[in-house]
Amino acid sequence: MPELPEVEVVRRGLERWVAHRTVADAEVLHPRAVRRHIAGADDFAHRLKGHRIGTPSRRGKYLWLPLEDTHQSILAHLGMSGQLLVQPQNAPDEKHLRIRVRFADALGTELRFVDQRTFGGLSLHDNTADGLPDVIAHIARDPLDPLFDDEAFHQALRRKRTTIKRALLDQSLISGVGNIYADEALWRTRLHYDRPTAAFTRPRSLELLGHVRDVMNAALAVGGTSFDSLYVNVNGESGYFDRSLDAYGREGLPCKRCGTPMRRRPWMNRSSYFCPKCQRAPRVPS
Ligand SMILES: [Zn+2]
Repeated sequence: MPELPEVEVVRRGLERWVAHRTVADAEVLHPRAVRRHIAGADDFAHRLKGHRIGTPSRRGKYLWLPLEDTHQSILAHLGMSGQLLVQPQNAPDEKHLRIRVRFADALGTELRFVDQRTFGGLSLHDNTADGLPDVIAHIARDPLDPLFDDEAFHQALRRKRTTIKRALLDQSLISGVGNIYADEALWRTRLHYDRPTAAFTRPRSLELLGHVRDVMNAALAVGGTSFDSLYVNVNGESGYFDRSLDAYGREGLPCKRCGTPMRRRPWMNRSSYFCPKCQRAPRVPS
């Protein structure tokens, strides 16, 4: 499943290869890929036709392409295996090609949505006054957003009866932090995932946010990281980057700070990786 840095890599690819091109026509090859577009495949294709794509945008793991002069955007759901590929028009169709968008120019490439498991898809939505597709209006800004409010995040942590990893994965507080980057940032901050947030000091909240940004920027610097080999970025290049992780996936391996074997614990249908010495469990389970 792509995390924020992978989605940002896709966004940058779309900005380079697709932005400001006018749609000639869209072809839906599998109705499931547009099931979130309630009016159906024909309506989806009709609404795209003749419109120019604006600058691709992202919030957290959500990615959308504004359609100029429509107050609507194409929201991309990558799901588990969704890929947005820019391919030469004469390249053979991918086995799992679901949607094709042709452009009214002579650049010779087209946009393809390919998805083996068809959990993802594309859909059109009205924009809010902020230019966000209305269905994601409730998603908080992500920590790489220049308008993310660190102080408001700290105050929300203080106010909420929650624990820190739950808070990091709560998309209404902070978006785009997935399981991998949460574990990495918590390890760097020496925080156990079950630590209640109500007593967090401002320096602790700010240090954690700093580490969240660092791990995401490090992943972005190498082009994103993903454990899903199906994930390919917009140029058709593999988005799998073998980045060294300090916590995630390191069960039984020595902590890179103190040498204690790292542990894995089941956590909300996922796993949490941590160092039992550097990241002490809270005494009273919350
Ligand atoms: Zn340690």
